[in-house]
Amino acid sequence: MSKSRIILTGGAGFIGANLVHYLIDHAPDVTVAVVDKLTYAGNRSYIEDAIATGRVSFFEDDIADVGAMQRIFSEFDPTGVLHLAAESHVDRSITGPAAFIESNIVGTFSLLEAARKHWVDGGRAGRFLHVSTDEVYGSLGATGAFTEDTPYDPSSPYSASKASSDHLVRAYHRTYDLDVVITNCSNNFGPYQFPEKLIPVIIRNIRDQRPLPVYGDGMNVRDWLYVEDHCAAIWTAFQDGTAGRSYNIGTENEFENIRLVELLCDLVDAELGRTGARDLITFVTDRPGHDRRYAIDPTRIREELGWAPQHSFEDAIAHTVQWYLKNFEPIWGV
Ligand code: NAD
Repeated sequence: MSKSRIILTGGAGFIGANLVHYLIDHAPDVTVAVVDKLTYAGNRSYIEDAIATGRVSFFEDDIADVGAMQRIFSEFDPTGVLHLAAESHVDRSITGPAAFIESNIVGTFSLLEAARKHWVDGGRAGRFLHVSTDEVYGSLGATGAFTEDTPYDPSSPYSASKASSDHLVRAYHRTYDLDVVITNCSNNFGPYQFPEKLIPVIIRNIRDQRPLPVYGDGMNVRDWLYVEDHCAAIWTAFQDGTAGRSYNIGTENEFENIRLVELLCDLVDAELGRTGARDLITFVTDRPGHDRRYAIDPTRIREELGWAPQHSFEDAIAHTVQWYLKNFEPIWGV
């Protein structure tokens, strides 16, 4: 799609900032309007370099503010939306679910309303891509993987809010013929993730020789996706996906949490010329409603859209470790 004007929500967050950089590098005809409320997880400095290119503008706004969203649609006249803004941390959704309802459900609703008025009522063309999670499918047993036909069965307030937003997006397609695509991905890793999530927390604690908290027995399984491969998949689904369809995104990299933590111990130890990080592993009380296993079957996006990951897990995780050791202090002062 040439000369696209894209509203990218959540562009100052982890995946959003990587996606802004991806578009700058790989989509030369695209201009981007980032919409981000700058919660604790958002940081404009992640994308200052992209803003400096002149191809990215920044709107510090709440997606739940429908008036603000309508104003941005009128001013920017987008040809697409890449919707990533959300409250994203499962633990925070357990202690304070209200923000998840507001940003993830009401926020998605207000963006859909702005899109419907601008595109459907205004007789214009535009596509709305909604970034969601595999957590909407609930938990798996020891075998099998989520397909796009797996019934929704969310466990946490976070995943329930994402499931609600997915249903709203699909309803806007069926009811108003809005052109939508939904992507559901597995756990991402890579640069710019706020240091409250597993991988940056573990890297920082190893560096500081502090306990490495691992939930329960450490045998919960997650399917790890490198954020740059995820960005390429989002852009492929936006350009070539079929309207109204969902695409699961994953790279079949399953790890028990404890194995991932052990791997990080070995990588950080090697980077810092130390040994013994594994001795810091500390099992802590499990998260309530902790899903046992997630695994994605990415057959549809591979076969229908020709997407395939470009990075090996080993190279990507090694790069991620090096990136955090270099950037904790300058970005977050930790
Ligand atoms: P993040 O928490 O790092 O970033 C979210 C961004 O959204 C932040 O910049 C924040 O300021 C912004 N934001 C939050 N509420 C907002 C609001 N009401 N208005 C405007 N901006 C708001 O999250 P992330 O990890 O980058 O996740 C991005 C998207 O991908 C989310 O929709 C999330 O559900 C989904 N997802 C993430 C993962 C993962 O592993 N990180 C996996 C599956 C799906």
